Amino acid sequence: MASFLSQMVVRHRAGVRILPAFGNTSRRLLSSHYQEARNVKMMGETRSMNGIDATVRNDWTKEEIREVYEMPMLELLYRASSVHRMFFDPTEVQQCTLLSIKTGGCTEDCGYCSQSVRHKTFVKPTPQMKIDEVMAAAKRAKEAGSTRFCMGAAWRELGNKKKAFNNILDMVREVNGMGMEVCCTLGMLNGEQAKQLKEAGLTAYNHNLDTSREFYPSVITTRSYEDRLETISNVREAGISVCCGGILGLGEEENDRVGLLHTLATLEEHPESVPINALVAVEGTPLADEGKADTPDIWDMGRMIATARVVMPRTMVRLSAGRLSFSEAEQAMMFMAGANSIFTGDRLLTTSNPEFDADKALFAKLGLNGKPAHSAPLQPPMEMSERVVVTHREVLAAGGSVIDTEETHALPQAA
Ligand code: SF4
Repeated sequence: MASFLSQMVVRHRAGVRILPAFGNTSRRLLSSHYQEARNVKMMGETRSMNGIDATVRNDWTKEEIREVYEMPMLELLYRASSVHRMFFDPTEVQQCTLLSIKTGGCTEDCGYCSQSVRHKTFVKPTPQMKIDEVMAAAKRAKEAGSTRFCMGAAWRELGNKKKAFNNILDMVREVNGMGMEVCCTLGMLNGEQAKQLKEAGLTAYNHNLDTSREFYPSVITTRSYEDRLETISNVREAGISVCCGGILGLGEEENDRVGLLHTLATLEEHPESVPINALVAVEGTPLADEGKADTPDIWDMGRMIATARVVMPRTMVRLSAGRLSFSEAEQAMMFMAGANSIFTGDRLLTTSNPEFDADKALFAKLGLNGKPAHSAPLQPPMEMSERVVVTHREVLAAGGSVIDTEETHALPQAA
C-alpha cells in the first residue's frame, strides 16, 4: 500500500524549518495554489520525475544549453520526454493551420524565402485575400480539427498599410469569434499596432528569430536581429502570446542552433510557442541556388526539439515547415522529443504540407488527440496521478527581509 509524504518547508535566510505533513488537505490546498501559479510564467517552479528535474528559468547559460544539446541522443530523448510529461499531456498535439493571406512581392532579402522580390522563384505576388475567403479557409481548418488559425502576409512591416491592417483586424475578430486561437505573422509591428491586434482578439503573434544572432547577417541583411527583438517586445507588452522560433538548414553550425535557443530561453518570459522549421530549399532562393542549404535530418530536428523542450518546459514546441520530408516514424520520434503541435493543411505558405486526412490517420495510428483551443497550460496526467514532485517557491518581502517559501508535494512512498 502506498502512503503519501506531503510537507511544507519554510526557508528563512537563517535556516530551514520543516512543518508537519498536512495529508490530503494540504494536497488540495497546494493543488489550487499550483493552478494559480502555473498561469504565471516565471514563478520558479521545479518539477521532478524519475530523477529528472525541470525548472522554468531564464538564466540559462549557453554552456548549459550546449551540454543539453550534446547529450547522447537517447539520453536527451528520455530527458526531454520526461520533461514533456511533467508539463503536458503527451498524447495531446495541437493542430494549427497557416494561411498566406498576402503572398509574394516582399522587399526583404531573407535568403531562404520564395516570396522575396529579390529572388526568382515560382511564387507570383497576389493581392491580400478578402475576408470571406479567409473565413472560408478558417472554417475548413476548424472542421478538419485545427484549433489555431494563423494568417501570414509577405511584407517587411505593417507600416502605414491602414486599409490592409483594418481588414486584418476584422479577420482577427472573426476568427476569434469562431472560438479558435488566432495568430498573425505580419512582419515588424509597432506598439500601437500590437495593441490594436490585442484588442481585436489576437491570441499570438509569430515573429521568428530564424537563427543565432551571429549567423543571422549571413541570411538576412535588410533588417537586424535587434529589429526582430523589438517587435517581439512590442508583442509581449501588448499582452499577446509570443510565437518565435527558427529554421534548421540555413547553413548554420550547431553552435548557432544552441545560440538561438539561448536567446529564446533567456528572454524575460519564454515564448509561449517555439516553431522549429526544417528548411524547404526552394529553387531561385540564394540558399538553394548557391548550395548553402543543408537540409536537416531527423537527428538534427530531434536534437533541436528535445533541447527546446528541456530549456523551455512550458512552451508549445511546434513541428513546422518541412514535415512532409519526414516519415511517420520520424514524426513520432519528434513527438517523443517534446513537439506538441503541427501545422495541418496541404500548404504551408508556399510549400507543400501533409494533407488533413494523412494527419488524421497518423493521429489515429499514434493515439494522439488534438488540443482544444485556449486550453494550455494543462494539468498533465502525470501530475494528476501524483508521479510528479512539484516544488513551488516564492520570494516574499516582509519587513524589509526576504523569505523564500517552498512547498513540496512528494511522490507516493512504498509502505
Ligand atoms: S521571410 Fe517574410 S520578411 Fe523575409 S522575404 Fe519572406 S516574406 Fe519577406
